[in-house]
Amino acid sequence: MSAPVFHNIVDGREAASLSGRTFENRNPANRSDLIGLFQDSGPEDARCAVAAAEAAFRSWRNVPPPRRAEILYRAARILTERKEQLARQMTREMGKVLEETRGDVQEAIDMALFMAGEGRRLYGQTTPSELPDKFCMTVRMPVGVCALITPWNFPMAIPSWKILPALVCGNTAVIKPAIDTPQSCWSLVQILHEAGLPPGVLNLVTGGGPEVGEALLGDPRVRLVSFTGSTEVGRRVSQACAPAFKHCHLEMGGKNVVMILDDANLDLAVDGCVWGGFGTTGQRCTAASRVVVQQGVYHQFLERLVERAGALRVGDGLDPATQMGPLINERQLRRVDEYVRIGQAEGARLVCGGRRLEPGGLAAGWFYAPTVFAEVDPGMRIAREEIFGPVVSVIPYRDLDQAIEIGNSVAYGLSASVYTRDINAAFRAMREMYTGIFYVNAPTIGAEVHLPFGGTKETGNGHRESGQAALDHYSEWKSIYVDYSNRLQRAQID
Ligand code: NAD
Repeated sequence: MSAPVFHNIVDGREAASLSGRTFENRNPANRSDLIGLFQDSGPEDARCAVAAAEAAFRSWRNVPPPRRAEILYRAARILTERKEQLARQMTREMGKVLEETRGDVQEAIDMALFMAGEGRRLYGQTTPSELPDKFCMTVRMPVGVCALITPWNFPMAIPSWKILPALVCGNTAVIKPAIDTPQSCWSLVQILHEAGLPPGVLNLVTGGGPEVGEALLGDPRVRLVSFTGSTEVGRRVSQACAPAFKHCHLEMGGKNVVMILDDANLDLAVDGCVWGGFGTTGQRCTAASRVVVQQGVYHQFLERLVERAGALRVGDGLDPATQMGPLINERQLRRVDEYVRIGQAEGARLVCGGRRLEPGGLAAGWFYAPTVFAEVDPGMRIAREEIFGPVVSVIPYRDLDQAIEIGNSVAYGLSASVYTRDINAAFRAMREMYTGIFYVNAPTIGAEVHLPFGGTKETGNGHRESGQAALDHYSEWKSIYVDYSNRLQRAQID
């Protein structure tokens, strides 16, 4: 049977790439399973999509936000009706277990409902004037055509975090999903059209970063870029946006830390570290890849973590018995394995995993054993660099000050967490950790759509995804002064 062909979506219509080339989308749990062929687009395809978005902006920007929101509500309903089917499609495309892909679709539903609500708010301010008979207010304006560039680890959730606030604010957009997971994003874009989105408001172009991504960054008609991916590519995106002063929003890598104090509920902490470290096969920007443990409970914690990690059932995420799926691709598998060798060479003690899993049919996919390193020094590369795989580094420490110092010592600043029953310690850690997200008695993952999401240092550039904070990125403030005094009134500074 021939594989289905998926087209770009430009100006509300399906469009083949101008080159006529396609690329394969295969199941990472079973490489012989071909999901479909997607358009291997080039710069000209990107430019056509931008032209469609630019034309649509003229009318979409003036559609009343509550009307725009109705489309989002309808999309939320369709997503809810098809949640199971979309989750299965995503597990096949991306590998993570069904429970997690249901969560990924749910995230898009939640974001659609939240941003639809914003359609009736988009609040500005009314404020007194320093002069008589003068009225002051602020309103949000859309920015224009947005280029949205997304990674593969949350194939529907992350596109939804960008598309939905962009649309409700009155922008139009071109989205370029990751080459490993175009189908989930394609489905989301189709559903928004089914829900009534006018042609050209949202366009999708699949293909490589250097070809499609770069063309979007360099197009003068694109006024806003929102990128989620690696810090390395994010730096390039930032530089490409700078000359034309495009709004540039970056969500990048992480090297998150869980801090476990001697007084912690250890069962809870072990549960949290298994989920935070090995959920999504460790391929989360918020993964708990470093666990610092106070000396008094270090050995006890390590023993339990290793026992639990070693017992995780690894396999095809569509099998309900599976607890951890494959890595996304061969490059990622090599990268993880390389870091394991680096850890060993640095002198960390490999206490669990550390190898590719091939027996029992697993050779058909990119499976890697849940891996734990003990006695890790905070200066080692495995404790500083983002691995993006099922590898947890356990680091012993003396007191809270040292844990905080270790926690903050990396280049990234996305998420951190503390396990303790001591409220004073929890509040100190909350204040001292320089991260965009912080959890108490929970792992480093678990964000909700109505709160800002993002990080400090090399994780982000000061913007936030989600919550009302996202509106600040997808709109510009306009301050309006209405003088009804019928005479020239100068402001105080004049
Ligand atoms: P990546 O940087 O390789 O790719 C991300 C996207 O950028 C893809 O769509 C890719 O095609 C595109 N791209 C690549 N080169 C480009 C270029 N020159 N110009 C424009 N676009 C280009 O990242 P990835 O491997 O897809 O995802 C993993 C990374 O994403 C990890 O570092 C992870 O931490 C990060 N991530 C961050 C968050 C967050 O919110 N902070 C969330 C998820 C993932």
